[in-house]
Amino acid sequence: MARSRRKPDWLKMRPPSGQRFADIKSTLRDRNLHTVCEEANCPNLGDCWSGRDGPGTATFMLMGDRCSRGCNFCDVETGGMEPLDPDEPTNVAEAVAEIGLDYVVLTSVDRDDLPDQGAGHFAQTIREIKDRDPSILVEVLIPDFQGEPDLVRKIIHAEPDVIAHNIETVDRLQWPVRDRRANYDQSLDVLRQVDRESDIYTKTSLMLGVGEYDHEIYQTLSDLRNVNVDIVTLGQYLQPSRSHLDVFEYVHPDAFDTWQTVAEDELGFLYCASGPMVRSSYKAGELFVDALLR
Ligand code: SF4
Ligand code: SF4
Repeated sequence: MARSRRKPDWLKMRPPSGQRFADIKSTLRDRNLHTVCEEANCPNLGDCWSGRDGPGTATFMLMGDRCSRGCNFCDVETGGMEPLDPDEPTNVAEAVAEIGLDYVVLTSVDRDDLPDQGAGHFAQTIREIKDRDPSILVEVLIPDFQGEPDLVRKIIHAEPDVIAHNIETVDRLQWPVRDRRANYDQSLDVLRQVDRESDIYTKTSLMLGVGEYDHEIYQTLSDLRNVNVDIVTLGQYLQPSRSHLDVFEYVHPDAFDTWQTVAEDELGFLYCASGPMVRSSYKAGELFVDALLR
């Protein structure tokens, strides 16, 4: 596959607009809530929030908009951590009801500064949503909790429907892509623990275009299946600003299609969402429910 470093046409974004977009934004502002959609400048924001391709989806970011880590691909501010908002779990649950979501994605910044790294707050938010309406499916995208099994266990015991933890890239590129406190084996261990200790679906994501070789992608997908990860998403890395990691290449959509086939047909993932604009929570509810019905 020819490699290109010039931003191609298939990465054109549609700007957010519409009444639903405005309503979700207003609900979030009223309750002082953050979304990864906005903080990470997600390219799908226009589609997800306005519901152009289905029901509106938003990914809530818990525990503030500042992270204790500084990954070189991520646009979230580092440092200057603030105390947790004790009302946030309730506010998120009420916003979910007000917006009318039936599939919720929760993620967070990393909070290495807190004694339990925020695991209890995460678990409480899951419970608040499920207590109000057990039929709402909850997907959580969790940090590595520095590999502490008891903290991962707190999330498992709150019984979300999907636990995601992103491995982000292949083993060789963990640094400089991720913060030095993250690493490949630690992330695999988190996913392995969830599989061993529960029936909860596991999920992870990889960014392509940061300099990985095809054989390394294959190896990573194989390692993920070896710990029984159910769902994987593959998307193009986009540089949030010039101070972030350079894009090594723009991977052609045909290559993403090939990886989807490899992941689903050869390696046996429940499903693989793969495409230049795909992000971890891309059509998360729709694809999950479709896969279960297959
Ligand atoms: Fe938000 Fe996820 Fe949609 Fe991006 S893909 S806009 S993070 S819900
Ligand atoms: Fe961004 Fe890394 Fe913090 Fe996650 S851990 S929010 S990817 S800086």
